[in-house]
Amino acid sequence: MSRIEEQIRSYMYAAFPILYIHTFEEEKAKEIIRNISAGIPQVLEWDGTDRICDLRTGEAAYDLSLYSLPDILDDRMSYQRQQVLVFRNISVFMEEPAVMVRLKKLAERIYSGESDTTIFIVSPVLRIPEELEKYVTVLEMDYLTVNEIRSIIQAFCADGAIQISEALEKEFADALKGLSELEIRNVLQLAYAQGGELTRNHITLIFEQKRQMIRKAGILEMVPMRERMSDIGGLENLKRWLERKAAVLARIDEARAFGVDMPKGVLIAGVPGCGKSLSAKAAAKLFNIPLLRLDMGRLLGKYVGESENNMRRAIQLAEAVSPCVLWIDELEKAFAGIGGDGSGAEVTTRLFGSFLTWLQEKDSAAFVVATANDITKLPPELMRKGRFDEIFYVGLPNSTERRKIFEIHLGKRRPQDLPSIDIGRLVEKTEGYSGADIEGVVREGVEAAFAGGQEHLTTEDILCAVRSTHSLSEIMKEPIEKMEREYKSRKFKNAST
Ligand code: ATP
Repeated sequence: MSRIEEQIRSYMYAAFPILYIHTFEEEKAKEIIRNISAGIPQVLEWDGTDRICDLRTGEAAYDLSLYSLPDILDDRMSYQRQQVLVFRNISVFMEEPAVMVRLKKLAERIYSGESDTTIFIVSPVLRIPEELEKYVTVLEMDYLTVNEIRSIIQAFCADGAIQISEALEKEFADALKGLSELEIRNVLQLAYAQGGELTRNHITLIFEQKRQMIRKAGILEMVPMRERMSDIGGLENLKRWLERKAAVLARIDEARAFGVDMPKGVLIAGVPGCGKSLSAKAAAKLFNIPLLRLDMGRLLGKYVGESENNMRRAIQLAEAVSPCVLWIDELEKAFAGIGGDGSGAEVTTRLFGSFLTWLQEKDSAAFVVATANDITKLPPELMRKGRFDEIFYVGLPNSTERRKIFEIHLGKRRPQDLPSIDIGRLVEKTEGYSGADIEGVVREGVEAAFAGGQEHLTTEDILCAVRSTHSLSEIMKEPIEKMEREYKSRKFKNAST
């Protein structure tokens, strides 16, 4: 029996009135309920249409043009009988007073032992009216395991008499992690429709489809990985550290057998525009695993319990897709207001708590890269040992690093002009510039050279752009100095040297 099945069974026998199964796998949830309800005289399903069906036979049990949904909830037709009511697509109806009040009444009667009913709500969206909150227990269905996904692939191939090798089946299953059964079938169908077979070339298609589905789920975004380690100028310490983790992740089973801990993740903090996001992206590319960005803004929902639940789902999805890099951008914004007053602060504090616990106990290959501009705004608990494997500070690039950054950005745009450009002079004139500033002056110089009808880019074109640019350290002199002092006093590792 699966974990969720056991959970549901125990809640049902303990007479919890409303069990809310939050899942995209509605069919799978129904099957579990069917299994659990064997022996119960009446098991009804309402799917949002005008009929109530017997969940086990699929036959119509009540016609809702004669009775209404509130009637069914009134329990009058089946008074005193043991029954299970399964509702799908009900979230919008629950806002209706007649439905909400009846649900509440029925829940109260279940509590008091007057009615032997269990109500199931099966839905991919989690929306609980505040009035019902105390009667509802939310259950999350696990994502499909690799073995379950493999069975779906096998069934799909058997249906269509499609040949697939065991090795490819395993690769497909890994790539399909995190998707629902329906989504997996759709992707396989799409892949098969392109050429009438399933080949390794379809893995890219699977990833593209998965990217869209993850985006639709709304909280995580699968970011395309274009940047490599060689696109980062400087930050040698950080790069070396990531390369060591890459070696561990590449042979994780052997590493663990050797006694190496599962890598948890890294916090990269520091000055804006100096390569923090770039490092997160390049890390995923280096590890050769998908990059999932967690959007904290979208995570905060307006319904009771929605934010925590979104956080749980984001973590679950990242774990299901793992190995992956889970990139949490602007961490300080996500957890601003912790410990403060008001319900907003309360939600953030709870969110933060569940994030910390997960980070502390995490044993999956979801590697967290958290980036932050201002570490002084972060709660100190986050910086304790055992949370992240390491915390790096990224400062303004030194002269050697500026040289590298110029070489990278000039090399990308005008490789043919690189040998004739006096990078030494550019480095001299850009003290206090961030990596993003340097990219900006290169971009501007190239554009000016083109607009001026030149055949080649010159050192002067870029110097001209430098003269018209206010560097980051000019604009933010005070805060940057303060931040640098802070990082030094906390003895964070410098990403550069
Ligand atoms: P923010 O906190 O504002 O998001 P960040 O530190 O995450 O800043 P990035 O997004 O990584 O900054 O940098 C912005 C752009 O500047 C990058 O896309 C890259 O083109 C350039 N850049 C910054 N630092 C470097 C670097 N060390 N090497 C090469 N390019 C860099």
